[in-house]
Amino acid sequence: MALIVHKYGGTSVGTPEKIKNVAARVKSVRDAGNSVVVVVSAMGHTTDELIELMHQVTTDPDPREYDMLVSTGEQVSASLLAMALQSIGCPAISLTGGQAGVVTEDIYRKARIKEIKLDRLKKELKAGKVVVITGFQGVDSKGDIITIGRGGSDTSAVAVAAALKADVCDIYTDVDGVYTADPRIVPNAKKLKYISYEEMLELASLGAQVLHPRSVECASIYNMVIHLRHSQKPDEGTYIMSASQIEKMGGSKMEKQAAVRGIALDENIAKIGLLNVPDQPGTAAKIFGALALAKINVDMIVQSIHSDGSAADMAFTVDRPDVKKALDITEQIAKALNASKVVSDADVCKVSLVGIGMVSQPGTAAKMFETLAQEKINIQMITTSEIKISCVVKKELGKKAVQVLHAAFGLEKVA
Ligand code: ADP
Ligand code: ASP
Ligand code: MG
Repeated sequence: MALIVHKYGGTSVGTPEKIKNVAARVKSVRDAGNSVVVVVSAMGHTTDELIELMHQVTTDPDPREYDMLVSTGEQVSASLLAMALQSIGCPAISLTGGQAGVVTEDIYRKARIKEIKLDRLKKELKAGKVVVITGFQGVDSKGDIITIGRGGSDTSAVAVAAALKADVCDIYTDVDGVYTADPRIVPNAKKLKYISYEEMLELASLGAQVLHPRSVECASIYNMVIHLRHSQKPDEGTYIMSASQIEKMGGSKMEKQAAVRGIALDENIAKIGLLNVPDQPGTAAKIFGALALAKINVDMIVQSIHSDGSAADMAFTVDRPDVKKALDITEQIAKALNASKVVSDADVCKVSLVGIGMVSQPGTAAKMFETLAQEKINIQMITTSEIKISCVVKKELGKKAVQVLHAAFGLEKVA
């Protein structure tokens, strides 16, 4: 008998019909003699709709009430799935994050999961029930409902699987695996049989929304294999696991050969520029220190020096939802620093190449820049690390950039 965790995303539980399909699938796994825990997202676009509703009431939502509101979507799908299971003769119970023992940091909207207290979960499993848990949420030390960031149900599922030491963590979604690029952008993208935690973490962090980055981080810490697969198809999907596990399964050769494993597009960023800041020690520390204090994640940073050396211009990117707050803070610091102007630009996106093989294969960056130049796609910012290269380009050219790079690196041919 195995202990199996399933996670179903929004599209997979988007209609009553789909919830019934999920119930049938879960029941068949339980009938085969397994214990099953299911983590669910909100139905379809419920979370977006709740946020839209919120905007009709306020432009400046209180973070605590935001979490109260957006966490409700998952309660709907969890209770409906429990009822669908009961109605086909499968004992089931739905639990909120708090009821399931998910304890988070005391930070609204994007808390990390600190621990999962397993008593209730174990009790319900022992009683032979399928336990359906609301993803995306937990409770803090005060008992307040806390959400863990958009797309966070993947992380809830992996955290539950890791805490329970589950045998399997299946993440069911609307695509049948991880591809070399978003198949909605590159129709001939290739499905990967395996991908390492490192590469998947980069792809997810750089905008490939197929998995929440922290779910991959959590899986790698606990060495939990994630099997990402299609909720309406029986086929195998993609295994996300350590490089050594991949090697054992005979999947390492290809990985060593290909410099680029995948391409990600992040359209959810904005650029902020500060003009004429004094070129002296402490300037960057003041700006980025203030942003860090406000928990704003800064990604790419570029500084250009004026020819007389007296001043510099600085540009950096933040997540789109943080841009207003980031602008307010940057404007305050700019005043204190006597900078001449602060500008923001939301008309940008980030295109990234990811692959462990890049470490040993020089020339990848040059080929990327050349390919974009041929298409007359101007690069506004660049960052690199051992296993990724990212370029900020005009938003309307992002998808085109992904397509031409996918073709230039021959990713449709990888095995
Ligand atoms: P869920 O609601 O199940 O969590 P998401 O919409 O968050 O699903 O993620 C699935 C989507 O991720 C797919 O429909 C696909 O368009 C997108 N995606 C982006 N990059 C990739 C990739 N490299 N491989 C597969 N899907 C990707
Ligand atoms: N429902 C939440 C969201 O839309 C969490 C998730 O789907 O993973 O962000
Ligand atoms: Mg998702």
